[in-house]
Amino acid sequence: MEKHQLSKSSFIRSVQCLKSLFLYKNFYRLKDPLTKEKQAVFNRGTQVGILAQQLFPGGTDVSPSSPFKYDESVVKTQELIKAGATVIYEAAFMFDRVLVALDILVKKENKWYAYEVKSSAKISSVYVMDACLQYYVIKNVLPGLEDFSIININSSYKLAKQLDLHQLFKTVSVKQDANRNLPFIEDRITKAKNALAQELMPDVAIGEHCFSPYDCDFMGTCWKKQPNTSVFELSGVSKSKQFEWYKKGYRKIEDIPDNSDVAETVRKQIQAQKSGKEFIEKDKLAGFYQKIKYPVCFMDIEVMMPVVPVFEGTQPFQQIPFLFSVHCLKAIDAVPEHKLFIAEVNQDPRVEFIQQLIAATKDYPSVVVYDEQMEKSVINRLAQDYPEYKKELAALTQKIIDFAVPFQQQWYYRAEMKGSFSLKNIFPALCKDSSFEKLAINSGVQAMYAYLDIQQESDLFKVAEVKEQLSEYCQTDTLALMKVFCELYNKAI
Ligand code: SF4
Repeated sequence: MEKHQLSKSSFIRSVQCLKSLFLYKNFYRLKDPLTKEKQAVFNRGTQVGILAQQLFPGGTDVSPSSPFKYDESVVKTQELIKAGATVIYEAAFMFDRVLVALDILVKKENKWYAYEVKSSAKISSVYVMDACLQYYVIKNVLPGLEDFSIININSSYKLAKQLDLHQLFKTVSVKQDANRNLPFIEDRITKAKNALAQELMPDVAIGEHCFSPYDCDFMGTCWKKQPNTSVFELSGVSKSKQFEWYKKGYRKIEDIPDNSDVAETVRKQIQAQKSGKEFIEKDKLAGFYQKIKYPVCFMDIEVMMPVVPVFEGTQPFQQIPFLFSVHCLKAIDAVPEHKLFIAEVNQDPRVEFIQQLIAATKDYPSVVVYDEQMEKSVINRLAQDYPEYKKELAALTQKIIDFAVPFQQQWYYRAEMKGSFSLKNIFPALCKDSSFEKLAINSGVQAMYAYLDIQQESDLFKVAEVKEQLSEYCQTDTLALMKVFCELYNKAI
C-alpha cells in the first residue's frame, strides 16, 4: 500500500499555512514542544471519544499499534467491512493518498453512518472542515455512506443517579456542509500536495494566519527573530494593526511614532517603553486602597470542569471548586497568616468547600481577588446548588474587591509588564520574584487537569504529590497577590 501524504491534521495545518505543512513533513524536529495544557486537552478528547463508543456498543476497535502504523488500520477496516461488521471504532480509510481515521462507523439497514466525536459543546468551523475532509475520503472508498455526523457534548445535560449517554451527547449531521465544501476540499488537497512536491519551502511571511484557527506550533522557528519589546507585545491592539506597523518596518515598540492613532491605554504602554518610566495615578490608587477594610484577606479558588459530569446534579463543564488559598493581613505591614483547603479526591467537594471557605473568610470585611469574574461565578453557582448557604455566600461576594481593576485601568503601568495584566506577569515585574516559574504546576488550567487526572489514580503517593503541587501553586498565587498589593500600596500612598 502506498504511504499516505496527508492526514486530517496535516490537511488542517496546510489550510492554515503551507509553510507549516512543509516544516511539519520535512523539519518535524523544529516543532515547538507540546504544552501541558494542549496535551491535557488531547487526552480529554481521547477519553470522551472512548466513552461515546458506548452509544454503539459491540464494535471492533482497529486503532493502530503505533501512530506510524495507520496502514494496518486501513487494511483491517476493509477486512471488517467485507466480513459484515456493523460497528467499527477508529475506522481508517485512504483515498488518493489522504488518510483519515473516524471515531465510529455504523451500518444500519445496509447503509453506513459515520460519527466523529468532539469533547466540546460547540461545533467550530474547524470541526466542520475536519468532517468535510473525512466525508470526502470515506465517500470515495465506501459507496454506501449515507450520512456523516458530529457527536458532541450537550452542555445543558444534568447528571442524575446514572450517566445517560444519550442525553450527554448530541448528534448533528454535517453532510450538507460536507457536500457543499467538496470543491474547496479538493482544491486545498491539491495545493497541499503541490507544496509537498516542491523542494523549496513555501515563502510565507508571518501574519495573522499564524494565530488562526490555532496558534501555530512553528512560531518558535518563524518568530524567533522578533526583538524584545516587539510591537506584538502591545496589549489592546488588534493583530491587523500590529501587522500594519510591522509591514511599515516598525519592529519595536520604540519604532511606533508618537502621533500614531491609538487608544490611551496603548499610548501609555508605548510611552512607558520609550521613557523607561512607570506610570502611576496616585489619586485613583489611593481611592482604591481607601475601600479596603482591615483585616483584609487575599483569596484564590481553583476549579475543575469535567466534560462528563461526575457528581449528581452537575452539568458538563460546570466549575467545581476543589482548592482555595487565603492569605490574611491584620494591617498593611503585619505578618500574614495563611489558610488552605484542598478536597479529597473522588468525592463531591462542594459542601466541605463551602463550609471551609465561609469559615476562612468570615472575619474579613474585605476579600481581595485578582479578576473577580471566576470567583464570583463559582460562589454564585454554589449558592444556587446549596441554597442553605445562600446567605453566607452572598455576604462573601459582597466583600470581594477586584485587584485587577487598577491594572486593567492602567492606574499603574511599567514596561516590564509587557502589555499584560495577568498576575503572573505583574508579580515578577513589580516584586522581582520568579516563584511561579519554579512551580511544577503554574497555571489554573494545569491545576484543573492535574486534579482531574488524580481522580482515577490508585497510587496514593502520586495523589499526595500532586495535591502538594496544587497547594503550592494556589498558595503562591495568593502570596503573589498580597505582595503586589503591598508593593503598589507603598508606591501610591
Ligand atoms: S509560524 Fe506562521 S508563517 Fe510560520 S509556519 Fe506557522 S503559520 Fe506559517
